[in-house]
Amino acid sequence: MNTRNIALGMLAATALLTESNTVAADDFADAIYFGGPIVTMIRDDDRVEALAVRDGIVIASGEKATVLSLRGPTTKMLDLQGRALMPGFIDAHSHVVQQALKFSVVNLDPYPIGDVKTIADIQRKLRARIEETKPEPGKWVFGWGYDDTALEEMRHPTRKDLDAVSTEHPILLMHISSHLMSANSKALELAGISAETPDPEGGKIQRTRGGNEPNGVLEEKAMGFMLGALPSPTPERSLEMLEYGLRKYAEAGITTAQEGGAVPGMLKLLERGDEAGVLPIDVVSYPVFATLDDATFARVAAGWSTPARYRMGGIKLVLDGSIQGYTAYLSKPYHVQPGAGTEVEADSCGSDVGMKMVLGGDAMDAVYEAHEAPVLEDDYRGYPNMTLEEVVKWVRAADEAGIPFLAHTNGDAATDTLIEAVKQVRKDRPRPELRSVIIHAQTMREDQLNFAANQGLVPSFFPIHVQFWGDRHRDIFLGPERAARIDPARSALDRGMKITLHHDAPVAGIDILNVVSAAVNRRTTSGKLLGPKEAITPYEAFRAVTKDAAWQYFEEHRKGTLEAGKLADMVILSEDPLAIDPMKIDQIEVLQTIKEGKTIYPANPG
Ligand SMILES: [Zn+2]
Repeated sequence: MNTRNIALGMLAATALLTESNTVAADDFADAIYFGGPIVTMIRDDDRVEALAVRDGIVIASGEKATVLSLRGPTTKMLDLQGRALMPGFIDAHSHVVQQALKFSVVNLDPYPIGDVKTIADIQRKLRARIEETKPEPGKWVFGWGYDDTALEEMRHPTRKDLDAVSTEHPILLMHISSHLMSANSKALELAGISAETPDPEGGKIQRTRGGNEPNGVLEEKAMGFMLGALPSPTPERSLEMLEYGLRKYAEAGITTAQEGGAVPGMLKLLERGDEAGVLPIDVVSYPVFATLDDATFARVAAGWSTPARYRMGGIKLVLDGSIQGYTAYLSKPYHVQPGAGTEVEADSCGSDVGMKMVLGGDAMDAVYEAHEAPVLEDDYRGYPNMTLEEVVKWVRAADEAGIPFLAHTNGDAATDTLIEAVKQVRKDRPRPELRSVIIHAQTMREDQLNFAANQGLVPSFFPIHVQFWGDRHRDIFLGPERAARIDPARSALDRGMKITLHHDAPVAGIDILNVVSAAVNRRTTSGKLLGPKEAITPYEAFRAVTKDAAWQYFEEHRKGTLEAGKLADMVILSEDPLAIDPMKIDQIEVLQTIKEGKTIYPANPG
């Protein structure tokens, strides 16, 4: 970045004009945007008439007449034609590598996250992929995200269903939980799974009723049989997959993304992507504690605060699981206890097989720690993923090195553990300058918000839960009282805290406008209001994915608002996001995404 241009803000440019009445050729703008609301996000309802960009930096914004004085013979005049320009979205928490994998295979997410309602939908989508990509005979076809409990048939697709799509290509589908998969006959054959194969310890090969033939569904450790048969993607293929995934983020208006749970194979891939120059947007990664070695920790400590196209920004702790998987660690029992047949998921992070699909064999030693299966009792509260001692160890390591941590806590008992660890490490000395983040923070209580406010811990909420899972949180997992307080954004803001909002892709898609809409409207899928007291305003919600998300990354001096001196990371939207009826926020379209002055979506802007 050219520091001279940063210094040359609008004031400097105007002063230059008054003094000499001419503008030197290299002081002209590369582009000037005008003709639509330019939402700066500096404060609510702050709009300017025009904005000038040079060398990837905003050099002026304000009244059209003033900004137009930077127009030179080569300046592109870009008329917004009534559409809105605002800062690019900053992803406060997701998992870009896993999401990239999900983009590279057939997406089988259930409605309303995706569009799959029946086994016929799955077959149609697989056939379309084969039709479209015309793989050579014998090449694998992968799908990800089907949910047997959300299919009309209420069962898994079997080898028969998948053989109906192809017997020539091996087909392998990953369940939405990453704990089961379904394969066709060709895939079973290549993996050497037959009627004679015994079930492995800790896993099951489902069999046909009344017979011993595998029906295609593999549970838990039985998925390991597939590992030997799967092709390892070439380094080139992995890079292509990463770039494609990041371009999809750009399509959603995101100009800075997160890898919020990186294992060594992912870190390697991101570094290779950066070296190869194929990252279209900025990526900040957080190596996960379980696989973090001393050398990587030292590299995080050395470079976490230096802005770059790619950097490691801190470390990631995972204190519990997910509420809808009955693995979040709550201080009071779940509203409806999990039934005998309930599948309790260890965590939502990708399985070994999934990792191999994207990263090849080198990721195999680096997956998350396995959990002991929980004992289900009448007063089941979920369970922790880390002991207090472990949390203390990592909070201390981060604090002593002066680096931020991201701590995943969904249940309030997990948040209690984090608070206890912070108390033990920090005593009475808060470390707000580290801007450490509580990821999800979904069931934070009032007393916990007070503690976080005093300590400068930053809650990053997951409001899509209000929408996608809200009805089930009220009726099944949390009950009406706790569900109404889920993702307590209003309570946090009322304490003067900064918050951010996220979608945790690949869990709930990558649409930031859905995230904002859920935080503002708090409507569940069935249309009911859930905890309207925790609703926030459109400006507050958009601020949590622009200005304050930039602050979370220590980049508020260069990102998050549209003003002179900041990066021209911007998005053009079909509507003014702060003027539209809030119920229609999720219908706004991302028309163009600009990273440091360059249009990265669409690929060929008209
Ligand atoms: Zn996550």
